[in-house]
Amino acid sequence: MNRSPAATPNLHDRIELAVSLIRGASSIVAMTGAGISTESGIPDYRGPGGVWETQRPPTIGDYLENEENRKAFWRKRLTDYPVLAAREPNAGHRALVELERRGTLLAVITQNIDGLHQKAGTSPERVIELHGSAHRIRCVDCGRTWDSDQIQQRLEDGEEDPRCDVCGGILRSGTVLFGEPLPKDELEKAVAVSNACDVMLVVGSSLVVNPAARLPEIARKRGASVIMLNRTQTPLDRIADVHILGEAGPTLSDLVGRLDSGR
Ligand code: NAD
Ligand code: ZN
Repeated sequence: MNRSPAATPNLHDRIELAVSLIRGASSIVAMTGAGISTESGIPDYRGPGGVWETQRPPTIGDYLENEENRKAFWRKRLTDYPVLAAREPNAGHRALVELERRGTLLAVITQNIDGLHQKAGTSPERVIELHGSAHRIRCVDCGRTWDSDQIQQRLEDGEEDPRCDVCGGILRSGTVLFGEPLPKDELEKAVAVSNACDVMLVVGSSLVVNPAARLPEIARKRGASVIMLNRTQTPLDRIADVHILGEAGPTLSDLVGRLDSGR
């Protein structure tokens, strides 16, 4: 749609519109991507200097079939995991905790694997992790899981390709690797809450990866209002009722801070 300049709301009006939609909502779903965590010092994938440009993780096939690939994965993990685990949530994560405290947050669907929503205080049962979590390790054969700290200790003790101590199976990160489908339960939950919400707030996702990119369209088709917040344009901006170009942390805390003030 080609809007005349007079009909294009400025940033202040856009934020006001978002505030009024959130204020009137009874069931909000936030959908977050790597962009909500860049202010915590975790680079995104597709931004400048992101992992996409520097080092792509292995595909599931490469990982399972080749011991050398697994060793390389664990070597990188040995140094990367403590850095990730030390990261702290920022104002954007905390604003979503505040929305939950107000009683209108149905769920947070996230593509992130960093666990920062839970660390900020969002109830774990409301967080839907579409791409899994870096804080869990599991056996590909028997399905047993461990906290990542436990396996980290074994890596520090010198294991190069740690195996399941129950069945001897290959261990893997609890994150979705390239070339494998998303976890079925999480995807089903994400579709269900997208169908049930009256506002979807999409923050810091490039929306180029399906099926996650489909969720705002599902919400929209069911009559929900869609608010998009990103520092750059995305392919789905056209379906947003309100599109805000801005930084996640300051913008979300501004937005949530205005809910009570009537400003
Ligand atoms: P992405 O990297 O493709 O896109 C991030 C988007 O956020 C971009 O559009 C970027 O412009 C925007 N952005 C960056 N910083 C921002 C900020 N401060 N405020 C507002 N917008 C900001 O990430 P994605 O769409 O989430 O999906 C790609 C994959 O990357 C996912 O599979 C996810 O598992 C993985 N990933 C996760 C993390 C993490 O857990 N924190 C980090 C990197 C990648
Ligand atoms: Zn096992």
